Amino acid sequence: AENTLADIVSHAKEYGFVFPSSEIYDGLAAVYDYGPNGVELKNNLKQLWWRAMTQLNQNVVGIDAAIFMHPLTWKASGHVDGFSDPMIDNLDSKKRYRADVLLEEKAAEYEKNGEKERADALLAEMGRLLTAEDLAGVRQLIIDEKIACPISKTSNWTEVRQFNLMFSTQVGAVAGDSSLIYLRPETAQGIFVNFLNVQKSARQKVPFGIAQIGKAFRNEIVARQFIFRMREFEQMEMQFFVRPGTEGEWYQHWKETRRRWHEALGLPTDKLRFHDHDKLAHYAKAAVDIEYEFPFGFKEIEGIHSRSDFDLTQHQALSRKKQNYFDNDINPETGKAYGNYVPFVVETSVGADRLFLATLCQAFVEETITEGEGEQQQTKTRKLLKLHPAVAPVKAAIFPLVKKDGLPDKANEIYNSLRHDFRLVVEEKDSIGTRYTRQDLIGTPFCIAVDHQTLEDNTVTVRHRDSREQTRMPISELRSYIGEAVSF
Ligand code: ATP
Repeated sequence: AENTLADIVSHAKEYGFVFPSSEIYDGLAAVYDYGPNGVELKNNLKQLWWRAMTQLNQNVVGIDAAIFMHPLTWKASGHVDGFSDPMIDNLDSKKRYRADVLLEEKAAEYEKNGEKERADALLAEMGRLLTAEDLAGVRQLIIDEKIACPISKTSNWTEVRQFNLMFSTQVGAVAGDSSLIYLRPETAQGIFVNFLNVQKSARQKVPFGIAQIGKAFRNEIVARQFIFRMREFEQMEMQFFVRPGTEGEWYQHWKETRRRWHEALGLPTDKLRFHDHDKLAHYAKAAVDIEYEFPFGFKEIEGIHSRSDFDLTQHQALSRKKQNYFDNDINPETGKAYGNYVPFVVETSVGADRLFLATLCQAFVEETITEGEGEQQQTKTRKLLKLHPAVAPVKAAIFPLVKKDGLPDKANEIYNSLRHDFRLVVEEKDSIGTRYTRQDLIGTPFCIAVDHQTLEDNTVTVRHRDSREQTRMPISELRSYIGEAVSF
């Protein structure tokens, strides 16, 4: 059976992956906390991304910029004037919606009913109206499509307004316009304003990239779909600076590289697709989303954007600081150095939380298994997380078969000998079957049983999460065995 989002939400809470924020006060919409297993899984995802960027590419280096930035940053980037979503209210139900999402959902409904052309036509029309900023037209389209609020069943809509998604606050003790600053709505601008600092200090030559992981904040109009759309979330972004004219090749390169990375982590090919943008953001020359098929449909997890020199030239204009790079490579056409230019940028931008949700949706399975032999044989269902061992919160659980005869001591000895390499747990409580079940539920790839034979010959039984197969092996081989499985 396919899992619904509700199954995943409750599993995430029960097993310490994700909790609603400030739950004792009934939560805060679109804000979530990561629990003990969640933080491990998320950190693993972030580390793998960081390594894929900065360790596997000599020409990609990292930074960690502040969340607060000079307010002119957001003027230059276009966010003050243009970072908004079209908002509409239904007067009967007093419910608020994102106008484009209402229309996208209608299109998805058409597509589901086999009316692909009708869906495409609707999306194209919406794109045209939004690009032309024809908000009255968007409202009319919602009415024409007979989109009714689920509660009121009427179409008593307000006008469509653009709602800016940036959160603002005051810096310093005096309130007033001059001290108004924003919480960054994307991490990218921290990279752009540091372009020359990084290029010079890291002695990088174009093409090179700057990677960053950090929090971003958006006052999303509607809170829904769990950690898919949050008001406080985490982005993993990389801006790749290239010579103008080469951005097309690099766009293709990163598009393919990033897709392969998601596949290697366990998102299957048939559940991933590219979605080209018809409606381009103010900065973009080309843009594609990598979409994953969530239980609620194909949705973006990562964006690849060809941003031209938009951001750097904007910052150059507002800061009055040159953002030029001198390229001393020889242009074969002129026989002279390429010289000074403002580099073009290809960006990869993935949400850590969306990636986490995709990982969880993909890993969470319920299967029917047969246990025991002959008369004892029984079938039952088990739930488990088939996580890639590299991202699993716990790599192995060590179980002394009984709580006596020195088996717990032996288990702790194994734990101590491996804890510097892997995150492990020792569990003594409950039957071995119950302990296996508990580890399956959090996605632990290996369970190591310590029994009386272990005391005699220093071997243990390693039980595999997915196949439930058991292998007897010497304790001395555990490090390389687990190490190989968890490498990525
Ligand atoms: P959407 O269309 O879903 O609002 P977007 O196109 O605005 O997303 P980008 O600005 O391209 O998103 O941001 C890059 C990535 O950041 C997205 O692919 C997504 O993974 C993540 N992201 C953006 N907004 C949110 C959010 N509100 N909550 C969680 N992750 C987000």
